[in-house]
Amino acid sequence: LSERLSGVFDRLTKQGALSEEDVKTALREVRVALLEADVSLPVARDFVKKVQDQATGQAVTKSVTPGQQVVKIVHDALVDVLRGEGDPGALKIDSPPAPILMVGLQGSGKTTTTAKLAKRLTEREGKRVLMASLDTNRPAAMEQLAILGKQIGVDTLPIVKGEDPVAIAKRAKTQASLGGYDVYMLDTAGRLHIDADLIAQAAAVRDVANPRETLLVVDGLTGQDAVNVATEFDDKIGVTGVVLTRMDGDGRGGAALSMRAVTGKPIRFVGLGEKMDALETFEPDRIAGRILGMGDIVALVEKAQETIEAEQAERMMRRMVKGQFNMNDLRMQLEQMLKMGGMEGMMSMMPGMGKMAKQVEEAGFDDKVLKRQIALIQSMTKKERANPQILQASRKKRIAAGAGMEVSDLNKLLKMHRQMGDMMKKIGKMGKGKMLKQAMK
Ligand code: GDP
Ligand code: MG
Repeated sequence: LSERLSGVFDRLTKQGALSEEDVKTALREVRVALLEADVSLPVARDFVKKVQDQATGQAVTKSVTPGQQVVKIVHDALVDVLRGEGDPGALKIDSPPAPILMVGLQGSGKTTTTAKLAKRLTEREGKRVLMASLDTNRPAAMEQLAILGKQIGVDTLPIVKGEDPVAIAKRAKTQASLGGYDVYMLDTAGRLHIDADLIAQAAAVRDVANPRETLLVVDGLTGQDAVNVATEFDDKIGVTGVVLTRMDGDGRGGAALSMRAVTGKPIRFVGLGEKMDALETFEPDRIAGRILGMGDIVALVEKAQETIEAEQAERMMRRMVKGQFNMNDLRMQLEQMLKMGGMEGMMSMMPGMGKMAKQVEEAGFDDKVLKRQIALIQSMTKKERANPQILQASRKKRIAAGAGMEVSDLNKLLKMHRQMGDMMKKIGKMGKGKMLKQAMK
């Protein structure tokens, strides 16, 4: 495919703006790539249409070819569809004991993912987790969870023969409260196909447990069928997030795009193997590259991105000096920092910013903090990003909740934004032209 695409892109003529013909030619190949990656037909069609509208007539950035530009647009649009609101790794597990319900078809990886997630919550977030298997269909399945629990050092609910899933869920809830657990995870039974029985059982468990999170576990290799599974589970049970397993295999992950597009549910985690550590937070750009299925094209995108980013940075610098520094600019800064592995590199290149870089370093600016701040900005509407001054209490509440954070976190971000803006204005007054030139070197 990448050959076919680069062929197409070579033929795209270099003009001031992308012509409809250029875009159409390139997108025909993109559509094939999506279908080859098992993206469902209607989703692929919609996506291509959306990109077509977006791309046609767009100015071709200096120093990138039209082909690179189209790739960048496609890639970004894909990331855009794949990305959910807020931080995918942040589960709603306050108010202990918080129940997490795991649902999905048989063999999708529910039991494995339950244990992986329990390990993650224990190790990374210091949570006390209790796992319970509700899989009464297969006695071995309950054993399987107990064995995994021993292996990772997480407690499992003792097995009582003859109990039904609802009774087990109730016992798990009681045990979690009495035992002072932060989280209890309910690993349900699956079937090979969705049937009324399976859904009824999961619904009964849901009604007893009132889960804070209901995670649908889907085999990333299933492709087309994943959409039906996701729609069905979401309609009948109510899903809060998706975990895509077996993404260590050859699957291209098209299911991710289809599920996102059709159900709108966020993809939270990705399973990358059978080992207990093989679970990662979902990263949309990784999957986007994979769905497009081309290493060299992704490299191309990155190169194009660098160029475009340099131009964006220049524009941003100008806006900052003029005192027009908004949340989009701040987000770009934060993302840049994340990429450059910290504040120092970024700020040390800007005159007058050394002192502030140090302050920020002292405030403990690691990747996690940066990601949380970006999540807050993502949770804002377009209008709010452009005019952060309109943020009053109710908007702040909504934004913080959307990113799974507190209003105080948002206030900190807003304060930093103001400080940076003020700083930039000062720099601007010190000598506009000269400073700007120096900064851009
Ligand atoms: P369940 O029926 O939904 O509970 O599925 P299981 O958790 O028992 O998993 C079924 C099989 O898939 C097991 O052999 C797991 O080791 C394997 N598995 C689960 N997740 C992954 C994954 O992310 N990658 C790979 N390669 N195998 C996985
Ligand atoms: Mg199982």
